Amino acid sequence: MSFKSALMKAKQGEELCKKDIMYLLSADGREQKTLFGLADEMRYKNCGDVVHLRGIIEFSNCCRRDCYYCGLRCSNDKVERYRMEEDELIEATVGVKEIGFYTVVLQSGEDSYYSAEMLSRVIKAVKGDGSIAVTLSIGERIEKEYRLFKDAGADRFLLKHETSDEKLFKRLRRGMELKERLECLKILKRLGYEIGSGNIVGLPGQTLESIAEDILLFQKLEVDMVGIGPFIPHPDTPLGCCARGSLELTLKVLAVTRLVLPKANLPATTAIATLHQSGYELALNCGANVIMPNLTPMKFKNKYQIYPNKKGSDLEAAKLTQKILDIINSMGRKAS
Ligand code: SAH
Ligand code: SF4
Repeated sequence: MSFKSALMKAKQGEELCKKDIMYLLSADGREQKTLFGLADEMRYKNCGDVVHLRGIIEFSNCCRRDCYYCGLRCSNDKVERYRMEEDELIEATVGVKEIGFYTVVLQSGEDSYYSAEMLSRVIKAVKGDGSIAVTLSIGERIEKEYRLFKDAGADRFLLKHETSDEKLFKRLRRGMELKERLECLKILKRLGYEIGSGNIVGLPGQTLESIAEDILLFQKLEVDMVGIGPFIPHPDTPLGCCARGSLELTLKVLAVTRLVLPKANLPATTAIATLHQSGYELALNCGANVIMPNLTPMKFKNKYQIYPNKKGSDLEAAKLTQKILDIINSMGRKAS
C-alpha cells in the first residue's frame, strides 16, 4: 500500500518525503519493475530520447586526500602516480573535441601541483571558440580559485557529496567535513556553475535512510547533474574486504532520483557499467540520460584506478566511443 501511494505521489508530481523515498527504495519484484518503468517514462517526458555524451580525461592520479574507499588515496603507495603536463592535457582535450564531443570533463585527484593559473590557461585554451563545454571534477578548492576557473570559461563542476551521513562522511573521508563540501557546492552555484553532486551506494555503514536523505539533498542543492554509482572495493584500501554495493539498489536510487528531479542530467555511470556487463543499458532504462566515456590517453588510463577493473579502461578513445554509440543506437535512443 505504502509503495503504491508513494508511486502515485511521484506520478502526480507531488513532493516526496523521506518515508515515501524509503518505500520506493525498498521496492522489489513487480514493484521494482513499475518503479523503473515510471522513471523511464519521466526521463522520456522531460529529456526525450537523447543521450548526452561527455568525454572524461583523468589528468592526474595524485591526491592529497585519504578517502578510505578510493584507490587513489595518498596512503596507497602501490599506485604508480602520473600527471599530465599542461600542453599534453590541452592536446588530449582538443582531441576529444575533434572526435565530436560537446563537453569535456577534466577529472583528477585533489592535486595542488595544478595551480589555479595553470588550470585557467588550460580551460581557456580548450574553450577556444566556445564550441565545447568544460566540466571540472577536481575536488575542493577555495572560492577565489573556483572564480578564476569560471572566468577562464569553465561551465560545470562535479563534486559528489558522497554520503549525507555526516558521521560516515567524516569517518570514510578521514576527518573531512560534509558541511565544507556542501559549502563548496553552494559557492560553485553562486558563481554561476551548473553543479553536479552524487553519492556512492553501498558504502560500509550506510543506511537506507541516509540514502533517502542523499536524494532529498540533491533536491535541496538544486543540482543539474547527479552521479550515482555503487561502491566498488579496491583491494589496496582499508575497505578492500568489504562487500560491493548492490546493482539493484543503485538502479533504484537512480530511478527515484529521476522521479524527484525530473529534468536533471543523470549519467549511466562507469561504476554501474563496471558492476554489470549491460550496466549502461540497465541504467538508461531506469532514468539515465548521459554517458561519460573515459577518453584518457591509453598510457595513463590503467593508472587511474579509483576502483579496480573500470569499464572501458582497455579501449582507446575512438573505439570506446563507437561501442557506446552502438549501445545507444541499439536501444533506439540518439546520441547528442
Ligand atoms: N578527487 C575528486 C574527483 C575524483 S574522484 C573528488 O573526490 O571529488 C571521483 C569519484 O570517484 C568520487 O566522487 C567518488 O564518488 C568515486 N569513487 C571513489 N572511490 C570509489 C569506489 N571505491 N567505488 C565507487 N566510487 C568511488
Ligand atoms: Fe582523492 Fe577523490 Fe579519491 Fe578522495 S575520492 S582519495 S579526493 S581522488
